[in-house]
Amino acid sequence: MERRERPERGDRRVRHRARLRETTLASRRTSSTRSAFDLAALRWLASLPALVACGLSCSPERPGPPPVVSLPHAGETVAVVSVGDILLADAARAKLKQHGYRWPLARVRTLLDGADLLIGNLEGPITSSTKKALPRKKWSYKMDRKAAVALAAAGFDALCLANNHILDYGPRGLADTITALEANGIRWFGGGRDETEARQGVVFDIGGLRVGLLGYYERFLGEAFQSRYASGNHAGAAMLTEDGLEEDIERMRRHADVVIVSFHWGANYKEVTRFQRDMGRRAIALGADVVNGHHPHIAQGVEVYRGKPIVYSVGNFTFGTPGRFKKGKQGYGLVVRYLFRNGGLRWLLATPIAVNNKLVHFQPHRVPAEEARGELEPRLKAFGTHARWVKDTAVLGFGPGAIAGELPPVP
Ligand SMILES: [Zn+2]
Repeated sequence: MERRERPERGDRRVRHRARLRETTLASRRTSSTRSAFDLAALRWLASLPALVACGLSCSPERPGPPPVVSLPHAGETVAVVSVGDILLADAARAKLKQHGYRWPLARVRTLLDGADLLIGNLEGPITSSTKKALPRKKWSYKMDRKAAVALAAAGFDALCLANNHILDYGPRGLADTITALEANGIRWFGGGRDETEARQGVVFDIGGLRVGLLGYYERFLGEAFQSRYASGNHAGAAMLTEDGLEEDIERMRRHADVVIVSFHWGANYKEVTRFQRDMGRRAIALGADVVNGHHPHIAQGVEVYRGKPIVYSVGNFTFGTPGRFKKGKQGYGLVVRYLFRNGGLRWLLATPIAVNNKLVHFQPHRVPAEEARGELEPRLKAFGTHARWVKDTAVLGFGPGAIAGELPPVP
């Protein structure tokens, strides 16, 4: 696999380079909202003949083995760093023009240092297309190619495309995004130019530890949502269905030592939903080692289930919208560092960052230890999760001696 040289990142050398299951949302809605969803489902059913026709003429192939990217590595710990929603555009445009595309990350860079694998959620296409997929959609986003250059310079290795904005400029916007990312040595997962690509995932072999990445966007009912999912030859985000997930995790397990599943799920600016809890646990039961969530724009709690972490939402990272946080109140995202040793997860480090653009002016930053703890501790306690704190960072231990064992270096 081709590798390319990239600029310095901190103190290290940056390396390289549906099936539909009708059991999910509809059955979980309250009866008061069911009729609206039934209506939407009926409209969706009305569109089935076209899909069936496609199924006959262009039936999708099953995803093949995921591509493998080799990264050189020294030392006994492998650090995978995960951040939330990324949008270098929209209301941030004036600041980007004034200060450049690397400026938004200046105050959180230390949290990315030393990452062997850096991933995030790319919440919009990188395209020059002017043709919106859904002209009446309230928010349609797109980014300039400078965003891909800046994200590569920041050390991003792979970006999740499983979200509700990646198809804002249609299949062309998504294809342009893939071209822009690849031109800058960044891999992608959770979306694609067809369903096979969207579900295939990617594996990073980091000094012998094979880390597999899969990504999915929660299945929302309603006509406006249906065109956003990859289906057959149609481009889009990988749809989160239990059957598809089971199949994909099983396949990924044959190629990876560790499987990290990213879910774009939940409700904007709200707490963890029942669907998140059920599906997060299901993913672990199906063989995922880590569940890494985003979409609600806020940091949510972390649950340890069967000895594996479910990070319900890492919230925003650098997300260039004005935001809809409570007036005058800070909003928080998380930067999560998964540290692997001897083939398994040893520690999880979660650091809250301030992300309300009305207060941080499009430059997220770390917060004082007391503020960080005040924000995250109750969210951990809600799931019975025990953490030790090192300054502004919660440390969760895994495996034998996890609770009282040694502490890892905290960035
Ligand atoms: Zn989203």
